Amino acid sequence: MNMTTIKMNTVQIEQLKNFYQDYLKPTCPPYSLFSAVKDGTTITAYESGKVLFQGSNAQAEAQQWGTFDTNEKKQDNNLPPNFQTWSVIGSDETGTGSYFGSIVVCATYVKKEQLASLKQLGVQDSKNLSDSRIAILATQLKEIVPYSLLVVEPPKYNDIQPTMSQGKMKAILHNYALGKLLKKISPEYPDGLLIDQFELPQTYFSHIKDEPVQIKKDVYFATKGESHHLAVACASIIARYEFIENLKKLSKQAGINLPSGAGHSVDVVASQLLKKDKNALSYYAKLHFANTEKAKKLK
Ligand code: MN
Repeated sequence: MNMTTIKMNTVQIEQLKNFYQDYLKPTCPPYSLFSAVKDGTTITAYESGKVLFQGSNAQAEAQQWGTFDTNEKKQDNNLPPNFQTWSVIGSDETGTGSYFGSIVVCATYVKKEQLASLKQLGVQDSKNLSDSRIAILATQLKEIVPYSLLVVEPPKYNDIQPTMSQGKMKAILHNYALGKLLKKISPEYPDGLLIDQFELPQTYFSHIKDEPVQIKKDVYFATKGESHHLAVACASIIARYEFIENLKKLSKQAGINLPSGAGHSVDVVASQLLKKDKNALSYYAKLHFANTEKAKKLK
């Protein structure tokens, strides 16, 4: 039997219980606060703060809540207590690790009054959702949460990338997306802004130091941002949806199905494109990836 234990504080356990509210068992073991069964995994939270995940999906189920204990987590981010209950702009990006396709950055604004209904809708990290579920959720979310969306297609990416690291590009895009959304919801201002952390905050701020508008006020960073506020989860869903749709569009143009990721199947498709047109990759792929050289060798 697979077993994983994580440690949580009372606020986190309350959040956990809300998350699993549809799966709660009518009774629970001694000294426990609740017990739930979801997809064959049993989740039991104890008064000690220990949360036990048991079953075939135990690891994956636990992972979305972080594998750090509570103390480590506090050092990991500097989020104020109850941050997950605030009205927050969250931002996330996708496509950065995929050879084919664009980089997409999305920021969404989730008001505290919307948190319960979004949870009910099934909003969570896009990594745990199927493409078809992402499509349904993204379409719904776009109707109910204000958002801003940036898509950098491969030609533009390849133009910029030789003189700018991907990290700097991401930072500039996040900053721009946040600024755009703040303008959209103005004069309202969120309680906080949460960026799904991809580099140290000081690096992030040095990357955006020459930008005409720099969003710094109330900006927070956290890894696994989607577990700290649903706004980041919403952003990850919309961003992923746009990435997939954009990849479909590029596939149509290329006349071949462009896979996401950077594995061997990607090299094979890249070499097929090269055979048709030696400049094709610059329209569909991030040229600086090692896949470019691998594809050339497959010729
Ligand atoms: Mn992210």
